[in-house]
Amino acid sequence: MDLIAARLNKVSPSQTIAISTKARALKAAGKDIISLSAGEPDFDTPQNIKDAAIRAIAEGQTKYTDVAGTLPLRRAVAERFRLDSGLDYTPDEIIVSTGGKQVIFNAMVATMNPGDEAIIPAPCWVSYPDIVALADGTPVIVPCPAETGFKLRAEDLEAAITPRTKWFFLNSPNNPTGAAYSAEDLRPICDVLLRHPDIWIFTDDIYDKLVYDGFVPATVVQVEPRLRDRTVTMNGVSKAYAMTGWRIGFSGAPAVLTRAMNKLQSQSTSGTCSISQAAALEALSGPQDFIGDMVQAYQGRRDLVVSMLNQAKGLRCQKPEGAFYVYPSLEGCLGKTSAGGTAIVDDEAFVTALLEEEGVAAVHGAAFMFPGHFRISYATDTDSLREACARIQRFCAGLR
Ligand code: PLP
Repeated sequence: MDLIAARLNKVSPSQTIAISTKARALKAAGKDIISLSAGEPDFDTPQNIKDAAIRAIAEGQTKYTDVAGTLPLRRAVAERFRLDSGLDYTPDEIIVSTGGKQVIFNAMVATMNPGDEAIIPAPCWVSYPDIVALADGTPVIVPCPAETGFKLRAEDLEAAITPRTKWFFLNSPNNPTGAAYSAEDLRPICDVLLRHPDIWIFTDDIYDKLVYDGFVPATVVQVEPRLRDRTVTMNGVSKAYAMTGWRIGFSGAPAVLTRAMNKLQSQSTSGTCSISQAAALEALSGPQDFIGDMVQAYQGRRDLVVSMLNQAKGLRCQKPEGAFYVYPSLEGCLGKTSAGGTAIVDDEAFVTALLEEEGVAAVHGAAFMFPGHFRISYATDTDSLREACARIQRFCAGLR
């Protein structure tokens, strides 16, 4: 009898984490590595948030909380949804989980039966297909052309829908492309969804505070309130408040689904860390000006990286609206050989040679279900970004 369950064979370990681990190991071995592979802010968690956590410990907030999260935090989440997007959720429609990732996991495991399908526009975050598969569902990947700025076309969504479609995922701003949907962009997609009343919508808005050049982000329920009764609006503190390690994510969703997710959470984690919840309460309800400063820094870095990558031979890089990633095409480099002798047969060969020959860690596009590209995270200081882009330019110039 096999020790490892067949279920686990349906998933692969996160490739972004694998590349970051490899980069860390090379660094530990004394190599000069610049890692642009991780999806986390380089900013520290603001002091007022840390202080709230320290206060929570001192005051003895060290016990189990409500499984769905403390009532003050769920109220603060509801208030943030209201202030930021005009959404109206009651505390019993909100669940707080161990990161946005667990919200997704809860929603899929609570609803998927074998054969049920989830439509996932690609490029997509690496974890969606694996979480769907772990929950016995079938991921249905729908490519979004680079020509539309990597945004889903309504007709492609319509064509992917089958009688087994249970979920539709939307991630805006997107990881890995940074593409973000305006209210205008969402309208035709909402129109398709209105015509298919059995489909549930999972909107992952975790990067919605990180948008540039005055872009106004929008979310499904805000654009089409008639979809509220079958939408999960997910968000969290990891990206907007530089709190990846605190592990707090949350969603607003109809009570019937939130109750089911809560039931699952009660038999898995019993709810997330009480101290992190106190910190998240301060993040959501305390001063918000930190975000503006961070966004300004990210915007400058984005502009630098896009400009330098577009000067690299064989690369083409779009300027995205949000998040902290760019997703250049490396099609002009395929079929060549690197200065170190690696045949650049695909995007994985490109990023492997780039790491080994120039010490720059990036993630290949196939990990995001959209090959021919690679992802760079610009959540790193400007000097490192400038040096990394210069190395990428040198690497590309050396291709023969
Ligand atoms: N959704 C997207 C698109 C992400 O990129 C990430 C993290 O990288 C998450 C969700 C999960 O974030 P967390 O579990 O830290 O809240």
